[in-house]
Amino acid sequence: MTTQADKDDKFTLNFDASERADRPPQEYYDEIKAKFAEARDLRLGYRPPGTDIYRSLDGEMAELARDPYADDWVEREPIIDSADDLVDVLFIGGGFSALLTSARLREKGVQSIRIVERGADVGGTWYWNRYPGVACDVVSYDYLPLLDEMEYVPSRHYAQGPEIFAHCQAIANKYDLYDLAVFQTTVTSTTWDDEHACWNIITDRGDTMRAKFVVCANGTLAKPRLARIDGMERFAGHAFHTSRWDYDFTGRDLEQLGNVRIGIIGTGASAVQIIPNLGEHAKSVHVFQRTPSSIDIRDDWETKDEWAAKLQPGWQAARRAKIVSKFRAQADKKGTLRTGITREEKIRRQENNNIDAMMRIHKRIDDTVDDPRTAAALKPWYMLMCKRPCFHNDYLPTFNRPNVHLVDTRGQGVNEIGEMGPIFDGVEYEVDLLIYATGFEVQQTGIYNRIVGEGGVDLDEKYDEGIRTLLGVHTAGFPNLFIMGGYQASFQFNLTDLLQVQGDHIANSIQHVREHGYDTIDVTHDAEEWWVQEVIAHRGKTNRNAECTPGYYNFEGQDNRRQDGNYNGGFPAYIDHIDDIEADMDSRFVFTSG
Ligand code: NDP
Repeated sequence: MTTQADKDDKFTLNFDASERADRPPQEYYDEIKAKFAEARDLRLGYRPPGTDIYRSLDGEMAELARDPYADDWVEREPIIDSADDLVDVLFIGGGFSALLTSARLREKGVQSIRIVERGADVGGTWYWNRYPGVACDVVSYDYLPLLDEMEYVPSRHYAQGPEIFAHCQAIANKYDLYDLAVFQTTVTSTTWDDEHACWNIITDRGDTMRAKFVVCANGTLAKPRLARIDGMERFAGHAFHTSRWDYDFTGRDLEQLGNVRIGIIGTGASAVQIIPNLGEHAKSVHVFQRTPSSIDIRDDWETKDEWAAKLQPGWQAARRAKIVSKFRAQADKKGTLRTGITREEKIRRQENNNIDAMMRIHKRIDDTVDDPRTAAALKPWYMLMCKRPCFHNDYLPTFNRPNVHLVDTRGQGVNEIGEMGPIFDGVEYEVDLLIYATGFEVQQTGIYNRIVGEGGVDLDEKYDEGIRTLLGVHTAGFPNLFIMGGYQASFQFNLTDLLQVQGDHIANSIQHVREHGYDTIDVTHDAEEWWVQEVIAHRGKTNRNAECTPGYYNFEGQDNRRQDGNYNGGFPAYIDHIDDIEADMDSRFVFTSG
């Protein structure tokens, strides 16, 4: 059986420059790389690089954005805060970012915390994504935040959506976050009020809220998107996006799908979890694939009582510390391995290791899928980690079911939808239900929300020349504003590792302001410039992004400014930078007091 350590190794293969003794000849790898390039070029030949290939759930498709989970649309009077009646900290978004940062703020004695959230409850991703089979394939003991504080041990190695959503609600209850929370409300603008040293927050409910500090906690993949497809508005059947699952139509246990013909567009991580459930219940399922996902083994198990009973207080923090020290050791090993070999040689070895991993994924498909043509079509031809890897044990076998059909568009994608269903290669596939598994916009800071800082400067305008932050969290000219989960922060496969580190830092920054009797904190231009250069220095060392098939990991194949991405110096280095900054706040920030 694969152990957790093996699985972690799969994620780090990308950086593995060790050399196998029994390596096939280099020509073998070169041929595969040439096929990767062919597949990318084929895809780019159909659609240009960039995100213009996607659109929002608006206009004629606006109905798809409706929240199917809220019992009611709660009517309420607008909230109008006066200048001397303001909350301390306001979170835009009520997902993990807001919850784990609020917990830290409460520990530091912050009383008034308001979450403003579009959904009808906290939970963010886990509020919206309730499709059948929803689960997280990051190990639950690491992924669920605040397990020590909540004295909770997840029930499975990979937690399922409902358990994670319930955990979010439990955090909100424990830390009294429901008291001031405002749901079914979207922030439309956040404007700095210099005179009163606070933020004015306007919402789509006519609210004018005021807050001393604002945290953009709106999530990294929060806004559902649709592919731009001709004729989609004329489809006469039922349709929804994966993050707006219509259980009224499907039945709670999909029991209403027995006579339903389904089309699903997209084969990313959401679709991979959904399709086996559809295969089991629907009359027929047509899966419209543009690029296959890589599907690895998913080793899941129920948490053993004996194991849980042995956990000592602080066990999750200890696990996290161990993971960070493992990252440190890997970084050291990388340095050692590099000595004595050229940069080109190191990249060649890494790529060969990654190709080995992808060929193992291919073999799993051949071993599982009966029909050779379907098996061939399900094989991903790109380097490991070009796209988000998926883990599932039922996805591939589902294609052996007689009612499940793969429509492989070979990089082209669905370009047209008729009244009866998707059209490809001149065939209109007649379906009763069309599911858009087409993903989410990647966070633009302040998604849905216009942020205006000192001197009336719009954050989007400031970023016109490239993103400028310290740690991805602070941006000069926007005092008392903190950004979570956005660019210029360290990328972590387990996102909550990053969010916890950022949340702790934000809580420490706010505490610093309060303890010293300051009104505002703003990053200096020098500190911001230093971080921008740090981000640039650690990016673009290989051609990797350009060589990958398009996806949200590489900005859909578009060239981007070197500073407009993640900080790639490593998670331990990111943590060290935060520690250094917190040890000497005065040299990085300007503080004012009334
Ligand atoms: P993704 O963006 O990953 O997938 C969108 C899918 O739609 C892709 O397969 C894309 O193809 C396809 N697509 C877009 N346009 C067309 C078209 N015109 N015709 C055919 N196919 C099209 O979104 P997901 O919701 O699947 O996942 C988003 C992220 O959420 C994941 O990457 C992951 O980070 C997270 N997640 C994690 C899960 C987990 O822990 N297991 C589960 C679910 C989500 P192409 O690849 O060619 O662009």
